[in-house]
Amino acid sequence: MNSEPATPRLAWSLLQPDWLEVCKAARQPAFRARQIWKWLYQERVDNWESMTNLPAAWRKELAVSHPLTPWAAEERQVADDGVTKLLLTCRDGQAIETVLIPADERLTLCVSTQAGCAFGCAFCATGRGGYVRDLDAGEIVGQYMAASRAAAPRRITNLVVMGMGEPFANYDATLRAVRIFNDYDGIGIGARRITLSTCGVVPGIRRLAGENLQVELSVSLHAPTDELRSRIMPVNRKWPLAELLEACAEYTERTGRIITFEYTLVDGLNDSPEHADALLARIRPVRGRVNLIPLSPVEGYEGRTPTRATCEAYARRLSQGGLNVTLRQSRGGGIDAACGQLRLRRSAART
Ligand code: SAH
Ligand code: SF4
Repeated sequence: MNSEPATPRLAWSLLQPDWLEVCKAARQPAFRARQIWKWLYQERVDNWESMTNLPAAWRKELAVSHPLTPWAAEERQVADDGVTKLLLTCRDGQAIETVLIPADERLTLCVSTQAGCAFGCAFCATGRGGYVRDLDAGEIVGQYMAASRAAAPRRITNLVVMGMGEPFANYDATLRAVRIFNDYDGIGIGARRITLSTCGVVPGIRRLAGENLQVELSVSLHAPTDELRSRIMPVNRKWPLAELLEACAEYTERTGRIITFEYTLVDGLNDSPEHADALLARIRPVRGRVNLIPLSPVEGYEGRTPTRATCEAYARRLSQGGLNVTLRQSRGGGIDAACGQLRLRRSAART
């Protein structure tokens, strides 16, 4: 039986059952799938030649049909506080960022899901640059592989999908990557240590609720009224607050999982006591918690970071209103220049 040569597919984009299919198609015994998985995620080799218990001729074929590393180049920048940014160049020349954030015994990796982003949030450097293309699951998993090499001997403990791009606009590849991260026989990051962040793509929230995954979900809110939110987040015109928060409430109802609402504080824009009260009224019924992030200044956006006192007062008002609130601090200073947005990852400082 002759079949068409398949388009090459990155090795890191396949789940365990997919490798069984690859074995079947190549008339190899099923146990080979486990061997491959072990090489990829336990030995973590980055070339097929090293997988010495596989037949040599098949290794050559796999190197063509399922190439390993997706990167043409890797560049590393380390900030004074230990935040490490990796700039990875894909085979087609697209540059994407992935960031390692150490905090006490935790080491969090922030991965990207798209080159660019189509959602155009006002203060987001990635959004300002526009959308280029979706990343393949293998390119998302590959960020982890590159970062875990850079982090060694420390191990990555947590993963946040908060880099460049909107995960729910590249839903399938993102979820496939999450399942590879989560696979107990492989990378093995517990679902509760994986956080997906969306700007409010309602169909994605609804779909995630049905996945039977225990991952954490963050929703970027940034404003308590439709008028203000539509001004800074065009996505709000498609899925306004009422619809978004209804989907969030349903999500919590169905999964039992509490959503974290991200709220970037911008001086004079969304940081007044009235904004806090309006936010309280919105979040309370949804039973969510709130992460406050002081704006990281972005070139081309005129907004400013509120003073620490304003941020703290805002946080206090929310927590006095009964919300679970975290105020984050800026991390990764000194490597900001080339970093669109990922410099914005912060370490938590509870108020
Ligand atoms: N697209 C997804 C995930 C990536 S952005 C989302 O929007 O949720 C991760 C978070 O960083 C979002 O909450 C985003 O609004 C926030 N962010 C983007 N630019 C920022 C800036 N300049 N200062 C502070 N937070 C920013
Ligand atoms: Fe895209 Fe998120 Fe940036 Fe908005 S904040 S433009 S959704 S990456």
